[in-house]
Amino acid sequence: MLPIQNEMDSETYRMAVRQLDLAAERLGLDPGVHERLRLAKRCLVVSVPIRMDQGRTEVFTGYRVQHNLTLGPGKGGLRYHPTVNLGDVGALAMWMSWKCALVGLPFGGAKGGIRCDPSHMSQNELEAMTRRYTQEISLLIGPQMDILAPDVNTNEETMAWIMDTFSMQVGYSVPGVVTGKPIVIGGSLGRREATGRGVVYCVQEASSLLKIPLQGARVVVQGFGNVGSVTAALMDELGARVIAVSDVNGGLYRDAGLNIRQVIKYQQEAKTVVGFPDADPITNADLLTLSCEILVPAALERQITETNAGKIQCRILAEGANGPTTPEADVILQERGIFVIPDILCNAGGVIVSYFEWVQDLQNYFWTETQINRRLKQVLIKAFHEVYALAQRQRLGMRTAALMLGVGRVADGKRVRGLFP
Ligand code: NAD
Repeated sequence: MLPIQNEMDSETYRMAVRQLDLAAERLGLDPGVHERLRLAKRCLVVSVPIRMDQGRTEVFTGYRVQHNLTLGPGKGGLRYHPTVNLGDVGALAMWMSWKCALVGLPFGGAKGGIRCDPSHMSQNELEAMTRRYTQEISLLIGPQMDILAPDVNTNEETMAWIMDTFSMQVGYSVPGVVTGKPIVIGGSLGRREATGRGVVYCVQEASSLLKIPLQGARVVVQGFGNVGSVTAALMDELGARVIAVSDVNGGLYRDAGLNIRQVIKYQQEAKTVVGFPDADPITNADLLTLSCEILVPAALERQITETNAGKIQCRILAEGANGPTTPEADVILQERGIFVIPDILCNAGGVIVSYFEWVQDLQNYFWTETQINRRLKQVLIKAFHEVYALAQRQRLGMRTAALMLGVGRVADGKRVRGLFP
């Protein structure tokens, strides 16, 4: 295996490259194209100085990485987290390249992040940091260049600040520079729920293939943010029994099923699920190994590793998060017959509806929520069955099949455009 020859080294980046290497080997990818795809096309590292509420100046480090732009403008979320680094952002950008190609969107892969702890920052500080970061990366972003979206610890409001800052620089409104923004300034109906809704569409397909009735099925969700809370609520609506959920502070367990509406209400006030009455506490580590039909990691990367993969007790692992399972854990899960719906397929609902939002913004013509959800389902289910068919045909795990399709399409794009666009 070739070493990684750039500045992006991090455990998560190495994991993304390992996945690419496995897919490249199966595809018999041209070594030059393979080498090119192991590296990002562009990385921008910026300093983001802001005046904190107490009067002192703090300088945060921000990143924007464009992994590949062969199929269209860059597309990818923006993350605020204390552990954000160039390697992790690079890995997330690479996964965006495969994801967009897999579900047939005309986008390349990108990602951004700022190393900061938003739980210790005021709204004013977050706004100042977001606006300054936007200014610093504005030379790389725009509706035809690179489009941002929410990710961990960013939301509609963050997207509105970015759109406003970018628009002020050019002198007119540019809604297409971000997706996942508020409806009133050009956001799309259904975008907020899209990732969780997509997870649920994939779970419905998998459970019907495996003949697992969703009525009463036990569901465990790690991470109760945008993706996790929507997934839990929709699974609950379908009649499944959500027995455990968690956030960064800890988890809740109730064998008879949690009242998800009440948990959401509680979390909105308490800013955590911890302390919700009518449930037992559980740690994030124990939650992952609960016996259940469906396990949905919807928090951060590398949660399921070779250490706990042998103890995972679900039938379907539906990856709401990006990169929750390491390649070593993948091997163990496959041996144990756990059906994995890989991240680049399972959580693609978010970028699919982001694509719809971008299209609506570009044509200034907006669709109904019913249209959005119907089209989301069509695109995602088609991709699901393409992945499943390849996995069956070549006796592969779903992840390898998904990566082969995503990587293969990016490589095809490179081939027809000339070698190194
Ligand atoms: P979010 O910030 O809304 O929620 C993250 C949740 O994870 C929070 O509940 C947080 O407390 C919890 N969490 C953080 N660290 C944790 C830990 N160590 N253990 C347990 N829980 C922890 O973020 P989100 O947008 O829901 O994103 C979650 C995951 O889904 C990320 O991997 C993200 O990249 C991925 N994703 C998000 C979208 C989207 O549209 N937002 C789309 C595709 C993929």
